[in-house]
Amino acid sequence: MRRIGPPVVKLLDDDVESIKYSLASHLLYSVGKEPINATARDWFMAAAYAVRDRVTERWMPTLNRYYEQDQKRVYYMSMEFLIGRTLTNAMISLGIYDQVKEAIGQLGLDFDEVVGWEVEAALGNGGLGRLAACLLDSMAALNIAGFGYGIRYDYGMFTQHVEHGWQVESPENWLRYGNPWEFARPGVIYPVRFGGRVIHYKDVMGHTRAQWMDAEEVMAMAYDVPIPGHGGRTVNNLRLWSAKSTREFDLKYFNAGNYIEAVRDKNESETLSKVLYPSDMTERGKELRFKQEYFFVAASIQDILARFRKSHDNWDMLPERVAIQLNDTHPAMVVAELQRVLVDEHQLDWHRAWSLTRRCCAYTNHTLMSEALETWPVDLFGRILPRHLEIVYQINHEFLQEVRHRHPGDSELLRRVSVVAEGDERRIRMAHLAVVGSHKVNGVAAIHTGLMKSTIFSDFDHLSPGKITNKTNGVTPRRWLLGANPSLAKLITGAIGDNWVTHLHELKKLEPFAADKGFRAEFAAVKRANKEHLTDVIGQRLGIDLTADSLFDVQIKRIHEYKRQLLNLLHVISRYNRIRSNPMIDLVPRTIIIGGKAAPGYALAKLIIKLVNDVADVVNNDPLVGDKLKVVFVPNYNVSTAELVMPAAELSEQISTAGTEASGTGNMKMSMNGALTIGTWDGANVEICEEVGEENMFLFGLTAQEVARIRIDGYDPVPAINANECLKKAIELISSGYFSPDQPDRFQGIVDVLTHGDHYLLTADFPLYLAAQERVDQLYRDTDEWNRRAILNVARMGKFSSDRTVAEYAREIWNVKVE
Ligand SMILES: *Cc1c(COP(=O)(O)O)cnc(C)c1O
Repeated sequence: MRRIGPPVVKLLDDDVESIKYSLASHLLYSVGKEPINATARDWFMAAAYAVRDRVTERWMPTLNRYYEQDQKRVYYMSMEFLIGRTLTNAMISLGIYDQVKEAIGQLGLDFDEVVGWEVEAALGNGGLGRLAACLLDSMAALNIAGFGYGIRYDYGMFTQHVEHGWQVESPENWLRYGNPWEFARPGVIYPVRFGGRVIHYKDVMGHTRAQWMDAEEVMAMAYDVPIPGHGGRTVNNLRLWSAKSTREFDLKYFNAGNYIEAVRDKNESETLSKVLYPSDMTERGKELRFKQEYFFVAASIQDILARFRKSHDNWDMLPERVAIQLNDTHPAMVVAELQRVLVDEHQLDWHRAWSLTRRCCAYTNHTLMSEALETWPVDLFGRILPRHLEIVYQINHEFLQEVRHRHPGDSELLRRVSVVAEGDERRIRMAHLAVVGSHKVNGVAAIHTGLMKSTIFSDFDHLSPGKITNKTNGVTPRRWLLGANPSLAKLITGAIGDNWVTHLHELKKLEPFAADKGFRAEFAAVKRANKEHLTDVIGQRLGIDLTADSLFDVQIKRIHEYKRQLLNLLHVISRYNRIRSNPMIDLVPRTIIIGGKAAPGYALAKLIIKLVNDVADVVNNDPLVGDKLKVVFVPNYNVSTAELVMPAAELSEQISTAGTEASGTGNMKMSMNGALTIGTWDGANVEICEEVGEENMFLFGLTAQEVARIRIDGYDPVPAINANECLKKAIELISSGYFSPDQPDRFQGIVDVLTHGDHYLLTADFPLYLAAQERVDQLYRDTDEWNRRAILNVARMGKFSSDRTVAEYAREIWNVKVE
């Protein structure tokens, strides 16, 4: 099994005294303060440096080991890494959590306050970026030579405030006080070119060659972030690129005496890594976004090839030493860039280069929704990357030749699979480029992969059977159970030992404890304490009084029509109506917790947030309701908020329209923390059900097949609304302005969507959702039985460790060994 060998160099001791010494010396030498004038943030920085030292002395030997053993490297290319805070996570990975906590305590400081000063790295929107972070954690835990490549955004995900119930965004200047986890590498810097033109000429051998000229140049400078694996044997590298202008001062301007112009130019080239696009679906047609994508692709490919060339001069070794995983199509330009570099810069024969490119690349798809599939207009593409457009055309030409050869006369097939979409405006389909340029394509849950094969990629599946495979997502149990929920982790370890931390299947051993009344009581006490903690924080931060005596019903995720926060609200409003019409009704008290960010340009999602808050205002202040129903919108949902809320969740809302949520990972985190799921037959819910048993969940609603069939005929929500009195009343209440007396028609846009077309079929699923909620209430009255099932959920979540996910990628896509 995994050997935890000593690092090559170990200078620092990990006992409390040594750590105290590190803290004090970093406070003085790195922060420049003394205890007498140090703030809690200064102490956070000192603690981060003290822990970082211990990470770093394991990091360098890891990189040397890969080099000496000439290991195959896995490059995980992602525009997003939603990492969250690092300090406690690193302490846990290195096994020094207790010592550091004790050292901080002995210095007279409050540990939680010190740790609380860390600004999280929010370089991602949601699930996709968080997956990248979980996979990095697992690659390091499994001692795989996994490197992340991404962008060091000056501004990551925006901070969400709620003002008068509306979402207000503000930029998060997360680097303001310095980032203790990054190392600037001014020596690792590559040029990235944009624009210009291509000339073709014959070289001395008579081969036609292309030269890309007159391009503008921006520099990509590396910042390295260590990723410590659990146990500390392996510390991997996440390399993030930051844009720098080619020169401090453009001599052209400088010589003309125009100093200000020169500095302005510098700023413009540096905008490339300025800000993360805050939509979790594709940004359409934004030139800056296109440039960001190529910027990090071009820098990463130069870096990957430079590393390869240090120990190899035979290009044919490339696929044996390099695996490149494309997280969605955002880095799909890798396919064209790698081909370009091999052909234009290293003079490889086209077909040899193409074989190498395809054997290196693999692509992960994250969505089936056509509006989210990335395409770029040919004119924009060609203006910014003229040579790449030629290469994409050539790739497409050869691919279509092959298809034509195998399926003569099927011009419809050619049109469907082409990398170039013909139409009023020709566009490049990045998903097709990624598929054609990869040796494996994967979906992120079984149902999603199945739908991929039967819908968007069905032609590709027929052309290359076996190329499309499934890799069901997972989450790292280090952050999402051990770190976020220490009391549950302690209870589990007390029962079955701590091997589950790296072998999550061992949670199975917990199953017999579900039948143990004493254990159920301890489990209930842990959940209760987590709920009380959340109640306290919400009370302090939002001034809302909650009671831990109610069922905590949680839906936290990006706000999106397909995720159906509105369906949740329709249940809330019908519950409210029931209470109003019968104030003495004996209902299970519920606390509905909703959190999530809306893309700043997504008006309907923002209106949904406003509706949550307006409903909360009415419900929470209605004396008839009391503790029977409370509604809370938790602002600024991010990794730290998730770590706070997940452990307190009792009911996990995973209610997307079947066929729309590729996998979901929030569903896994909550179930792992002992929540029961109310959900649809969508994404990983289906596999969670296979593991934990349908009797331990509340699944309801249309299947993906039924959804598809209903949509073919065109769905009319009106009959469904008229047939269900609760639904009708709930919609009428919104429509009447009851929740928005100051502006009665405020939610007309929402009412319109529900009553005209209802694309996400909320009204079709509503009756079954309500029935499922009824089953939730009934079970919750039997506290002991509820807890038994919650324990079984935890015990059966072994499959959903990202360690399992990574091991599958390693074996079936990357072809690297897992110890
Ligand atoms: C896990 C996670 C997500 C993904 O949640 P889903 O419910 O799968 O959409 C998004 N944001 C954050 C901060 C997360 O931790």
